[in-house]
Amino acid sequence: MARYIFITGGVVSSLGKGLASAALGALLQARGYSVRLRKLDPYLNVDPGTMSPFEHGEVFVTDDGAETDLDLGHYERFTGVPARKTDSISSGRIYSNVLEKERRGDYLGKTIQVVPHVTNEIKEYLHIGKKEVDFMLCEIGGTVGDIEGLPFFEAIRQFIHERPRGECILMHLTLLPYLAAAGELKTKPTQHSVKALQSIGLAPDVLLLRSEHPIPEKERAKIALFCNVRTEAVIAAYDLKTIYEAPLAYHREGLDQAVLDAFNISPAPRPNLARWEDVMDRMMNAEGEVRIAIVGKYTQLGDAYKSIAEALTHGGMANRTRVRVEWVDSELFEREDPALHLQRFHAILVPGGFGERGTEGKIKAVEFARTRKVPYLGICLGMQMAVIETARNLAGMPDAGSEEFNHEKGENRFTPVVYHLKEWVQGNHLVERKVSDDKGGSMRLGAYSAHLNEGSRVAGIYGATEIEERHRHRYEVDMKYRDKLEACGLIFSGVSPDGRLPEIVEIKDHPWFIGVQFHPELKSKPFAPHPLFADFVRAAVEASRLV
Ligand code: GLN
Repeated sequence: MARYIFITGGVVSSLGKGLASAALGALLQARGYSVRLRKLDPYLNVDPGTMSPFEHGEVFVTDDGAETDLDLGHYERFTGVPARKTDSISSGRIYSNVLEKERRGDYLGKTIQVVPHVTNEIKEYLHIGKKEVDFMLCEIGGTVGDIEGLPFFEAIRQFIHERPRGECILMHLTLLPYLAAAGELKTKPTQHSVKALQSIGLAPDVLLLRSEHPIPEKERAKIALFCNVRTEAVIAAYDLKTIYEAPLAYHREGLDQAVLDAFNISPAPRPNLARWEDVMDRMMNAEGEVRIAIVGKYTQLGDAYKSIAEALTHGGMANRTRVRVEWVDSELFEREDPALHLQRFHAILVPGGFGERGTEGKIKAVEFARTRKVPYLGICLGMQMAVIETARNLAGMPDAGSEEFNHEKGENRFTPVVYHLKEWVQGNHLVERKVSDDKGGSMRLGAYSAHLNEGSRVAGIYGATEIEERHRHRYEVDMKYRDKLEACGLIFSGVSPDGRLPEIVEIKDHPWFIGVQFHPELKSKPFAPHPLFADFVRAAVEASRLV
C-alpha cells in the first residue's frame, strides 16, 4: 500500500512545486522505491486541452490520451513513469463528475455539497492505483489560501485523517525573500503560509524553502520552531544551474532523508544516484554548441513548447553538446526572406500548432531547410507543413493546404492535402469523430503504433520497425497524395498498422529531413534521450562542422 506525500505551495506561485515533486520522485526511485506522481489543479477547466498555451504553457499528452498539465511532463522526465489520465485532476473534472452523478440521480435525492460530495470525489481519485507503488506523490496546484484550492485541501485533510497514522506526510514549498536594505532573508511569509495551512487542519512535515541566498543555521532553527517542523526537515532549495541538478542538489540538502525520517523509515535504503550524476556530467562537460531554431507562433512563452525544449536538451546530452534553442516567430517570414533569420542556425524545428496564423511562414521555413539542406524536424503541424511545402513547390499543387484552414475561415481556399479524418482504428477498435464534437474530444489523442519502412532513415534511428508514439491532432495527411508526393522525393516512411494513416515522412536526398505526425518530445528523458532528438542534434553537430 502506497505512502502518500502531499506537496503544497505558499507565499507565491511559480516556485517550482512541480519540479520539486518530480525531483523527490526521482530521489525515492534512487533509493529503490516505486513512485507515481499526481497533480490536483484547482482551475475549472475540465482539462488543460482547451487552454491557450500562451496562458498555461504546453498541454502534455499521456499514453492513455489525456490532455494534462505540463507538470506531468516534469514528472515523466524525472521518473520515467508514464503518467495516466487519472494523474491529472482539475476542479472542473471533479465538478463535472459530481454534476453528472447528480443528474443521473446517483445521490438519491440528497442536497449536493462541497463537503462531502466534492471532497469524496477528490478522495476517490487519490485512492486510484495505491496498491501499485511504494509512494504516491500528489501536488496541489496554486498556493494555500486560494479560494479555489480549498476543496482540495479539505479533501487531503480528510484523507490524512482517515488513513492509518504515519502513512501520509505533507511537504510545503515556500519562498524566503531577501531584503537587500536589511541584508536579511525574511521568514515571515513562510510563517504566515504555514499558519494558513494550520488553520485548515494541515501541518507540514517537511518545508522546502526557495532562496537566492544561503540560509543561515539560525534562520533555519527559527523557521523550524515557529512552523513546528523539525530542524532537519527544513530544507533549502537554492537556484539551480539547470533543472536536472534538482535531484542531486535536493539530496545534498537532505530532502529525501527528511521525507523518509518523516515516515519513520529506518534504516533508510542507500541511494544510487549514478543516473543523475551521469546526466549532470553530460550537461556540465559538454563540448561545443549548436544553434537550433524553433519556428513557431507561441514564441513569447517558452513553456508553450516545454517538452520540445527539454527533448532538445536531452538530444544535446546524448551528443555531449550544448544546444542553444532560439525561438523564431514564423510570421516574420511572411514579410521578410527567411534566410535573413535562419541562416545562422545548424538545424530547424517546426513544432505543433493550431490554426492558420503563422503557417505561411512555417512553410517558408520548410522550403529554406529543404533547399539549403539544413537539418529539419517537423512535429505534427510541422510535418503537415512539410507535406504542404512539397505539394506546392514540387508536386505542382500551388493551392495545397490544410482543411483546418478552410474550416477556420469557412472558405475553400486550399486543396486539402491535410484533411479532417472522421474515423480511425486505435488498437482494435474504431474511433469516430464529427467536426461538431467538443473541442476537447475531437482529436486523435494518446499512444498509437506505427510501422516503419525497412531501411528508412527513421527505422535506422529508432533501431526498430514497430514504434509507439503519442498523438494530439485533428487533421491527417491525405494518403491519396502519397504516390504523387513520393515521386517528388517525400517518402512516407512510417504509417499506421492498417496503412491508412501517415505517421512519418522523410526526404532521402537530404542530410536530415523528417516530419512526424506524433509528438516524440513527450517521451524523451534526460537519462534516455529520444532517438529522434538525439539524431537530430547529431545532424546539427555535423552541420555545424561544415560552416
Ligand atoms: N493543427 C493540426 C491538427 O490538428 C496539428 C496539431 C498539432 O500540431 N498538435 O492536425
